[in-house]
Amino acid sequence: MEAEREGRVYCANCIHCKLVPSPAGGGRYYLRVRCDAGMWRKKLGDEKLYKYCTVANRSIAGCSRYEDMGDGPEFLRDLRASLPAADELYDAPPAR
Ligand code: SF4
Repeated sequence: MEAEREGRVYCANCIHCKLVPSPAGGGRYYLRVRCDAGMWRKKLGDEKLYKYCTVANRSIAGCSRYEDMGDGPEFLRDLRASLPAADELYDAPPAR
């Protein structure tokens, strides 16, 4: 259900916040998050992605496209505890 959410919302608790790989060359990649509702934009209109390690900090003062995933406050607490401390580089899984 889509509903205008008054007050501050955490993007990490929204169904539109998606984890995506960002190629770094040599088959390696970084993890980024994107808003698949298209709400994260740079000044010139391009889509803005954020580092996965910062996702728990991403809150905004209300969003017309916010869709709560239904997780309680413990979700954000557990997410903060499990996030990498820095922007890590990952190896692509071996081909099958
Ligand atoms: S729809 Fe709004 S609350 Fe949801 S991820 Fe995008 S910007 Fe954040």
